[in-house]
Amino acid sequence: MKNYDVVVIGAGPGGYICAIRCAQLGFSTACVDGELSSSGKPVLGGTCLNTGCIPSKALLDSSHHYSFISHDAAEHGINVTGIKADIHKMIGRKDRIVQKLTRGIAGLFKKNGIDWLQGQAKLLGGAEVEVTPAGKDTAEIYQVSAKNIVIATGSVPAKLPVAATDRNRIVDSTGALAFTEVPKRLGIIGAGVIGLELGSVWSRMGSRVTILEALDDFLAPADQEIAAAAQKLLVKQGLDIRLGATVTGTGANNREVSVTYEQGNDKQQLTFDKLVVAVGRSPNVEGLGAEDAGVNLNSGGGIEVDKQCATNLPNVYAIGDVVRGPMLAHKAAEEGVMVAERLAGQKSEFNLDLVPWVIYTWPEIAWVGNTEYELKEAGKKYNSGVFPVAASGRALAAGDSDGMIKMLSDADTDRILGVHILAPNASELIPEAVLAMEFEGSAEDIARTIHAHPTLAEAMHEAALASDQRALHI
Ligand code: FAD
Ligand code: AMP
Repeated sequence: MKNYDVVVIGAGPGGYICAIRCAQLGFSTACVDGELSSSGKPVLGGTCLNTGCIPSKALLDSSHHYSFISHDAAEHGINVTGIKADIHKMIGRKDRIVQKLTRGIAGLFKKNGIDWLQGQAKLLGGAEVEVTPAGKDTAEIYQVSAKNIVIATGSVPAKLPVAATDRNRIVDSTGALAFTEVPKRLGIIGAGVIGLELGSVWSRMGSRVTILEALDDFLAPADQEIAAAAQKLLVKQGLDIRLGATVTGTGANNREVSVTYEQGNDKQQLTFDKLVVAVGRSPNVEGLGAEDAGVNLNSGGGIEVDKQCATNLPNVYAIGDVVRGPMLAHKAAEEGVMVAERLAGQKSEFNLDLVPWVIYTWPEIAWVGNTEYELKEAGKKYNSGVFPVAASGRALAAGDSDGMIKMLSDADTDRILGVHILAPNASELIPEAVLAMEFEGSAEDIARTIHAHPTLAEAMHEAALASDQRALHI
């Protein structure tokens, strides 16, 4: 039986990053992963690269270009006629990007001397892991042993019993990233991050999109002011967002799918060509044998860990979507780095309070830290500075001036407590806020930092000034 210093289970952004960092630190490292591509080949990269962040962003970018050419180019004096979308090409481009990146990870594993063990891993208790290679007979099951085990098995789409996926009319996010034609009528259950991103993609390509969301509040985890402004813009773009709408039943045939939902005392029915179930994700422990091996699970069915991602068993750690906290790729990756470095005796930490969120609608939505509602609930005294994107020269020049940046800071110390952005490329603006907050910076620190002109980042500078009533351009 081969013995390793570290065996990582799962090669998503949590697992593959952890494996690379372990190898960099001199550990003999193996990474077990059972993921297969749509053509049945073993692939690295997990949800993020294969069916999550990367393919969704590829389609968001393609559909954004299509939408720009169709609706906004004329405003710039660019008249385009005969615009035609080629969905096969668009999906093919997305698939090639995914392939390039997943192969890139195989290259990184090779470069770092990491053994890629293809197959499903099962914990055998103690220091042993059983690997069942895909498509092989049981004779080829083998075991490896490890001084340390890192579980990074990620998550899977949450199931909604009243809307079971059938890989035809009713699909999950993976299915919605591979439509071969634009559905004329597209229903989406769930107005969370995934529902809004996929709704945006297909609405831009011409689908009539209806999103059914059980909660009364739109984007409940976001700052209310930002969520309300985002909702208005998304509705203007054509998304029919129905709040307080709980789906209670579905019925699909070869041609269409009907959905019944309750909104207050009203019972309604709608018919779609395709229905996407996007009601969140569940931690993935299936087949892992975690409980039998003595690993404690949490109330959500994921793996119970402490702040440093240690489980109840010595030398067994867990990171990413399978543990508590936001299900985001960068969160998984940073936990992976922390665990690897702590195994090497370093004192690395991970700040769960400063994980930035991004929703890649247009404009994008991004935030870090507390919302205004949370500060009010906690009885905190705070300052709020809001700067509208419309007052940014760079945004006007780009013809993209919807949105705002809001900075919340402690009324006594001026320390930044939260930053909330609805703006073009908000994903590229939020790191400044995360960095400032990581250094326990104040709004004044951002206000005194020179921001290049003309940039959208100046709106962050102005939001900081606005929190002290001294914004210069409003
Ligand atoms: P995963 O990426 O889920 O990887 C887990 C891996 O472990 C998989 O390959 C799985 O096959 C393997 N595995 C599981 N069990 C076993 C086993 N027993 N043996 C062997 N292998 C096993 N996050 C962002 O930060 N930004 C985004 O823009 C974003 N967009 C998204 C869009 C969509 C449509 C979806 C679905 C998700 C998106 N996410 C995004 C979330 C992101 O993909 C996840 O947070 C991230 O992939 C979690 O990483 P992970 O390493 O914990 O697990
Ligand atoms: P997220 O967890 O961000 O991916 O969001 C998933 C969304 O789906 C949440 O906002 C849930 O409220 C919503 N949701 C869950 N079940 C239902 C349902 N039966 N009908 C409509 N929306 C739902």
